[in-house]
Amino acid sequence: MSDKISIDLVRQWLQESKRVAVLTGAGISAESGVPTFRKPDARKPTSYKQASGAQASEDVYLWDKYDPAELASRSGFKKNPELVWQWYDYRRCLVERVEPNAGHIALVQLEKEIAAREGRMTLITQNVDRLHQRAGSENILEVHGNILTFRCFDHGHFASDVERGLKAPPVCDCSSLLRPNVVWFGEALDKDVLDAAMSSAERCRLFLAIGTSALVQPAASLPFIARERGAKLVEVNLEETPLTNSVDVFLKGSAGEILPRLLKSPA
Ligand code: NAD
Repeated sequence: MSDKISIDLVRQWLQESKRVAVLTGAGISAESGVPTFRKPDARKPTSYKQASGAQASEDVYLWDKYDPAELASRSGFKKNPELVWQWYDYRRCLVERVEPNAGHIALVQLEKEIAAREGRMTLITQNVDRLHQRAGSENILEVHGNILTFRCFDHGHFASDVERGLKAPPVCDCSSLLRPNVVWFGEALDKDVLDAAMSSAERCRLFLAIGTSALVQPAASLPFIARERGAKLVEVNLEETPLTNSVDVFLKGSAGEILPRLLKSPA
């Protein structure tokens, strides 16, 4: 199937489907200049210079020697809370400097198009950068939390107003250290958020997986749940993933280029 025919087919499915579930991963934010965990080429300094200035492009190499899976874990935080805090502080400052890209904006438009014919789109994101919210998407499930809010390590007390640039985690009123309000590797997802994501996967007629390596569970199982319930499955990615063999249409390319072409009225 040619690229043009595939795009036309998916646009038609999107216009016919009342319930649509979209799963996004780090790839959709790569074009804003936020690095993915698994793609070294997404860390080319040029994208950082464009998006966030020379300082960020230098910093990214500083952090390249660390394994995100070790930093983003309870054991990593216990071992070296200052190091983990500084990594998140760097990432927080980065995401606050960049802007949503054409891919994020196309999903806002898609949600409006679906709502206009009394349908519903649920945007399930693994991203912790809040770029979907800043673009204007409304019905969002943040399955991995976000790095712009905080909770304490021992009791989960919530905090939002924390100074940037600190070299060590501040202390909560209960004396525990504050940590980012994200789901770390090995931690369970919030049950209500996960239930809502599963339910939207079960009920949708079309499931769109965008910029995710489809390796991190349980989010990676959502497209398969949708397919078992009879939904059509579409993937947008620069490269094939463990999901690709199971999809109805694989749209190879960048989210920022492909998503605007799926709209009824291009953004
Ligand atoms: P991942 O890093 O494992 O995979 C990224 C995927 O995006 C890859 O398959 C890659 O081929 C694809 N990709 C890269 N650039 C793309 C583009 N322009 N258009 C389309 N696809 C593109 O990401 P993941 O699957 O989200 O899992 C990693 C975990 O890391 C998640 O839990 C997520 O919370 C976290 N993470 C989040 C951010 C963020 O919030 N922006 C950034 C890094 C990691």
